[in-house]
Amino acid sequence: MAKFDVPKEQWAQVVEKSGGPVVYKKIPVQQPGPDEVLINVKYSGVCHTDLHAMMGDWPLDTKLPLVGGHEGAGVVVAKGELVKDIELGDYAGIKWLNGSCLACSFCMQADEPLCPHALLSGYTVDGSFQQYAIAKAAHVARIPKEMDLEAVAPVLCAGITVYKGLKESGLRPGQYVAIVGAGGGLGSMAVQYAKAMGLHAIGIDGGEEKGKSVKELGATAYVDFMSSKDLVQDVKNATPDGLGPHAVLLLAVSEKPFQQATEYVRSRGSVVCIGLPAGAYLKAPVFDTVIRMISIKGSYVGNRQDTQEALDFFGRGLVKVPFKTVGLSELQNVYDLMKEGKIVGRYVVDTSR
Ligand code: NAD
Ligand code: ZN
Ligand code: ZN
Repeated sequence: MAKFDVPKEQWAQVVEKSGGPVVYKKIPVQQPGPDEVLINVKYSGVCHTDLHAMMGDWPLDTKLPLVGGHEGAGVVVAKGELVKDIELGDYAGIKWLNGSCLACSFCMQADEPLCPHALLSGYTVDGSFQQYAIAKAAHVARIPKEMDLEAVAPVLCAGITVYKGLKESGLRPGQYVAIVGAGGGLGSMAVQYAKAMGLHAIGIDGGEEKGKSVKELGATAYVDFMSSKDLVQDVKNATPDGLGPHAVLLLAVSEKPFQQATEYVRSRGSVVCIGLPAGAYLKAPVFDTVIRMISIKGSYVGNRQDTQEALDFFGRGLVKVPFKTVGLSELQNVYDLMKEGKIVGRYVVDTSR
């Protein structure tokens, strides 16, 4: 078994007060508990959720001070005595779901994201914006050795979440799905999972650069919400019979599209809410929802099985998020770009700089 010299101190990005900014500083390295592993995080994707956490956007308190991050790909360097199925030196991933009780009625049915005792990486426990992060061994993503840790990092939240959302939509191969926020981190992955699952993806986002990227990733059509004069009609027109897509994946970080989706979704279609804009509400006309038999639902990350399936798509070369890598020290700049909606695809931070 490999042996690792784990330092006492490490670099981390710490949220010291709600609203930010993040502070790049040295903090102690923690020891894993009996059922935990310590992962030397090499790369971590930056999810919009990390920004929501820093800003205190949601009706759920974060721990403070907080180390954010939940798309951390790295190497297991220490483990507790109860951990039998992971060896030191294995590749593993820190996901949003850091741990769960494994005994409640949700965990029993592999709905562990719904566990009332769930631990959330970069929210209720420290996450992957540090060089050494802890997670429950049962929940870390098992990353095969041949995978590139830098490229796979965004799969650990964005990939899993959109793959699960597509499964929850009930879509079948050959059908159309509208992906709202298609140029962002989740959206870029959603377009590719959709294509790999035999679906036609209609990407919706703002601006030419995102449009170009969304089309390159395999979307059948792109609707620009910033320049479209009639978004609802444009989305419907992107389906061959003009009746609209069979499902909508809402990944945007603004409320408006959550109000529009039921207008263009096809009758019998489903609207799957995944994005979490601060303080937003859903609104849909009852009459239309009833007589057109529209389903509206939420979808929240994925379970351990979804994780391994989402990674398998990556392993087969079917999904590849466009990413840019910067040093962990530059995380605040990434948040600044994210606030302005200027990020195409995903930013990944390299924890060694
Ligand atoms: P991102 O910032 O990378 O992407 C959001 C995209 O939405 C951007 O490209 C932006 O231009 C686009 N957008 C904004 N307004 C729009 C509009 N009116 N119409 C169409 N597109 C619009 O963010 P991300 O990391 O992809 O995360 C997206 C959201 O999903 C966040 O709220 C995040 O917290 C949430 N999230 C949810 C889950 C879950 O399990 N449900 C998991 C991960 C992330
Ligand atoms: Zn995330
Ligand atoms: Zn549980």
